[in-house]
Amino acid sequence: MEFHSSDNCTYDLSLCVICQRDGDSSEQNLSVVTHGRAKLIQRSLDHSHVQLYEYLMSNPEQVLVHPSCRSKYVDEKRLSQ
Ligand SMILES: [Zn+2]
Repeated sequence: MEFHSSDNCTYDLSLCVICQRDGDSSEQNLSVVTHGRAKLIQRSLDHSHVQLYEYLMSNPEQVLVHPSCRSKYVDEKRLSQ
């Protein structure tokens, strides 16, 4: 019954790369990141999200995000240090 194994190293192309959920069960539809990938890559480093970083660096065909996830992700200040 377990279809999702989110601990896997693979990202699902059809899911939001940030929250790894699809658009149906969420309040928002997914949108394709066109420009702005570089920003996501930079932020994935800031967040130490190595899997996401490596995924983005692999130049995937498409990157899907929820607009709210992306804006939150890129705007978020670094965790207090
Ligand atoms: Zn999301």
